Amino acid sequence: MYKSVNTLGAIALIMAIFFAVSANSTETAAGADDQIVILVGIDGLRADAIDRAAAPNMRALAARGVRAEGMTPAMPSKTFVNLYSLATGLHPKNHGIISNYIYDRKIGREMNRGSDINDPRWWGGEPIWVTAEKQGVKTGTNTWLGAEAPIGGVQPTYWNPYKKSHKSEVYAARVDQILEWLDLPDGKNIRLGTLYFSVVDDAAHQNHVNSPQELQAIEMMDKIMGRLINGLKDRSLYERTNIIIVSDHGMADLSPERIINLDPIMDVTPFITPDWNRSRGAAYVAFINLYGDEDGVENAYQKFNGAHPHLKVLRRGAFPEGYHFDHPDREPDLMLLADPGWVIYATEDQTPPPSVLPFLKATHGYHNLHPDMRATFIAAGPSFKKGIFTKPFDNIEVYGIIACALSIKPAKTDGNIQNITHFMTRKCD
Ligand SMILES: [Zn+2]
Repeated sequence: MYKSVNTLGAIALIMAIFFAVSANSTETAAGADDQIVILVGIDGLRADAIDRAAAPNMRALAARGVRAEGMTPAMPSKTFVNLYSLATGLHPKNHGIISNYIYDRKIGREMNRGSDINDPRWWGGEPIWVTAEKQGVKTGTNTWLGAEAPIGGVQPTYWNPYKKSHKSEVYAARVDQILEWLDLPDGKNIRLGTLYFSVVDDAAHQNHVNSPQELQAIEMMDKIMGRLINGLKDRSLYERTNIIIVSDHGMADLSPERIINLDPIMDVTPFITPDWNRSRGAAYVAFINLYGDEDGVENAYQKFNGAHPHLKVLRRGAFPEGYHFDHPDREPDLMLLADPGWVIYATEDQTPPPSVLPFLKATHGYHNLHPDMRATFIAAGPSFKKGIFTKPFDNIEVYGIIACALSIKPAKTDGNIQNITHFMTRKCD
C-alpha cells in the first residue's frame, strides 16, 4: 500500500514534470518566433556619441544589451551607401548604391534622388523587410532608404515616404506610427519596424562634432528613444522587442586650414561628377567620383596623382580590396579621396577657397576604417546577451542579426554570422 502510493506519487510527479517541461518548451518555441525588431537609424551618430552627450536611455539600452566599440561602415562612408548596406547585408558593389549620388553607365545617367527613389532598377540585393515579408512577417518602415521601391516586387506592408524634418514633434509622431503598427490585430501587426532620423548628422555638419548643437541633437534623439521604450512598455511588448540602434557613419571636423583646392591642378567640370552638387556652388566634399572618356580620365589621373599630400587618386579596376564598391556599371573611373578631416574644393569659375568654411564644418565619406568614421551599434532585447561591449564589426552583419532575431531565413549576404553570434542569445543561421 505504502509502496503503491509512493509509485503513484512518483508517476504523478513524473507526469507533472513532463507537462511542465512540454508547456515550457511550447512557450519557448512560440516565444522564439514572436520576437519584434525595431531598427533605429540615427544618421551621423558617431560611435562615441552617447559618451559625450546626456543620453540616459541609450546608455541604459547599451547596459541592458550589446554595444559595439564601433561599427565599420562600408566604403565610402556616406549615408545612402550605408543605410542600404545595413538593410541588405551587402557590399556596395553588390547592392549598387555606391555613393549618395550615383551615375550608372548602363542607364546612362545620374540617379535622380526624387523620381528614381521608387525605381527598382537602382536598388540591388534583398533588404531585410523584403526577406521578412516573403516569409509572412509584416513590416513597417518609417522610414528607411530603399523601402519606397518595390524590390523583387516586394515592399513593406506599411511604409511612409521620407520627409526631411528636425522637429521633435515630427520625430515623436514617427515613433507613434511604429507603435500603431504594432497595435494592429494579429495578422496585420508588424514584427519588424524601422525608424530613421537625420537631426544629429545635420547638426554636426553645420556646427562641428561636439558642438552644443550636435550634443543637443543627440539628447533630443535620446528622448525620442525614451518615447519608444515607454510606448513598448505601456503595451507590454518591451520584453519581446529587440531595439537595434545603428548609424550609417561617423563624422570628422573640417578646417579652413585643410582644403584641397583642385582648381589650380585641373578643371574637373568637363567630367561627370555626381557627388558635386553644383546648385550649391563650389564643391566641399570628402571625395569626388569622376566619370569620363578614356583620354580625359588618363589625363586627370596624371595631373592629380601626387599633386597633393592629402589627396588619394584611385582608378577604376584598381581600388583597394576592402573598398568593395567596384560595381560593374557604377564604379567611377577615378575617385579623388581626401584624408580624414581634409575637404576637396572645386569651382566652376576658379573662385579661391574662403578663409572661413561657409556651411560645412564637419563631414564624412572618408576611408571607412578611420576611427572618426565609426558608426554606432547598440542593441538590447531577448535576442541579445546583456552587458556586452564588443569590438568593431562591419555593418553588413546587421541584416543577419535582424534575421536571427526574427527567426527568418536570411538571403545570401556578404556578412558572416559567426562574427556576431558571440553576443546573441540564440542560434543564428
Ligand atoms: Zn548619413
